[in-house]
Amino acid sequence: MWDCVIIGGGAAGLSAGLVLGRARRRTLLVDAGEQSNLAAHGIGGLLGHDGRPPAELYAAGRRELASYPSVEYRTAEVIGGACVGQVFELMSADGRRERTRRILLATGMEYRPPPVPGLARLWGASVFHCPFCHGWEVRDQPLAVLARGETAVHASLLLRGWSDDIVLLTDGPAHISEEEYARLAAAGVAVDERPVTEIVSSHGELAAIAFSDSGRLERRGLMVATTLYQRSSLAEQLGVELAEPTPVTAERISVDALCRTSAPGVFAAGDLGAETPQVAAVIASGSLAAAAVVQSLLADDVGLPVPEWSHHVNA
Ligand SMILES: Cc1cc2nc3c(=O)[nH]c(=O)nc-3n(C[C@H](O)[C@H](O)[C@H](O)COP(=O)(O)OP(=O)(O)OC[C@H]3O[C@@H](n4cnc5c(N)ncnc54)[C@H](O)[C@@H]3O)c2cc1C
Repeated sequence: MWDCVIIGGGAAGLSAGLVLGRARRRTLLVDAGEQSNLAAHGIGGLLGHDGRPPAELYAAGRRELASYPSVEYRTAEVIGGACVGQVFELMSADGRRERTRRILLATGMEYRPPPVPGLARLWGASVFHCPFCHGWEVRDQPLAVLARGETAVHASLLLRGWSDDIVLLTDGPAHISEEEYARLAAAGVAVDERPVTEIVSSHGELAAIAFSDSGRLERRGLMVATTLYQRSSLAEQLGVELAEPTPVTAERISVDALCRTSAPGVFAAGDLGAETPQVAAVIASGSLAAAAVVQSLLADDVGLPVPEWSHHVNA
């Protein structure tokens, strides 16, 4: 019987594993090894690791966990979970079954950028979803935003912080109001509504955007509106409630201030409960969630006072 099984070994899960190991909790960390930022050359904006290749950070995290004898790291995919009485049973794709007192979901999210030909090969480099992660690398360059509606206005004005030369590409009707057109024009953002047919690259970098009328727009960076979805049905199987969808996160898990989900015994950390997905933030939430797990176990074992399991999860 584990004290806690952490599902997912990205920045959130590894951070949680470290805190649980230091609290001497019998912890199993199961990871399928597909952290969402592996395509990026470096992690932008992480103190102490700015620009470090993501895979290096995860390897360092796994090395740190190895010092703690109560933590086991396993490469596998959890495919099923259920609460049976007072404990949880989990099943992996390799057929292994585990029993645990707590579950910490840290499975990350599936980022879905628009399915434009040529985009995937530049994803995480000169095509990106977050200016705080990748804006510095394309600062003062000719940039574009690919989005529609309110999201497009927000993204274009945000990216103005990194360049004066921004074109908003709406790939068809922009779905923005006269007032929003005026606000973009006042900020020096041009709007191009031609259908986009291809993201053109040269030597692994963005070169241009191609349109259906055979026109091209040369650009060095492209920010795309991206929506985040759950990677699996695990949250649903465990009866965890989702928050209201937003333009960024379609299927965010609802958590309270202690990373507790609506299902008692199930905690969530990282992208899957976040509105602003960033490595620094998910490391913090993994740490917080693990501290909450430890305290909830001590509440059961020795009567440590903890706040009632909240039904007022942030929706
Ligand atoms: C292309 C790209 C570039 C980015 N660049 C930056 C950047 O420069 N700076 C920054 O701060 N943020 C960046 N981000 C955001 C950042 O990567 C995420 O916020 C962060 O990785 C989320 O961490 P996480 O631990 O929640 O999830 P993840 O890193 O996605 O890790 C989740 C892990 O859980 C595993 N998993 C999922 N389901 C299961 C299962 N059923 N069983 C077992 N394991 C499972 C996955 O395989 C994965 O290894 C970027 C995101 C993307 C997509």
